Amino acid sequence: MGRDCPFCAIVAGESKAEVVYENDRCLAFRDISPQAPRHVLIVPKEHIPSIDQVEDPTLWISIMAAVREVVNRISPDSGYRLVVNCGEDAGQTVPHLHVHLLSGRPMGWPPG
Ligand code: 5GP
Ligand code: ZN
Repeated sequence: MGRDCPFCAIVAGESKAEVVYENDRCLAFRDISPQAPRHVLIVPKEHIPSIDQVEDPTLWISIMAAVREVVNRISPDSGYRLVVNCGEDAGQTVPHLHVHLLSGRPMGWPPG
């Protein structure tokens, strides 16, 4: 568990979050500051600081399976966007790997 990591605290049940899905390796919960009508974060239960530090590539099977489950539950009939910010330049603020799933509004391209 990462010290002072807000997502580890959610995984451990020490902080509250609105969980929408869970599998053996991942937890999916609503973003506290949603940037779209539906905004969910999919995180590994293990503390991994960023996408650069995934040592076991099979983790992605669990993460992408979780994405599919969350889409089926919250947004089955609309498009969605997945975002992974890596590092300060990309705007990563929480140093625990997370995939943003955003849905429910039209989205521009390129992203800001
Ligand atoms: P990043 O900028 O690192 O890609 O995204 C971090 C995301 O985590 C932000 O969208 C932010 O709103 C969300 N977030 C930060 N702290 C918490 C928290 O304690 N609970 C939840 N549910 N979301 C959080
Ligand atoms: Zn963590």
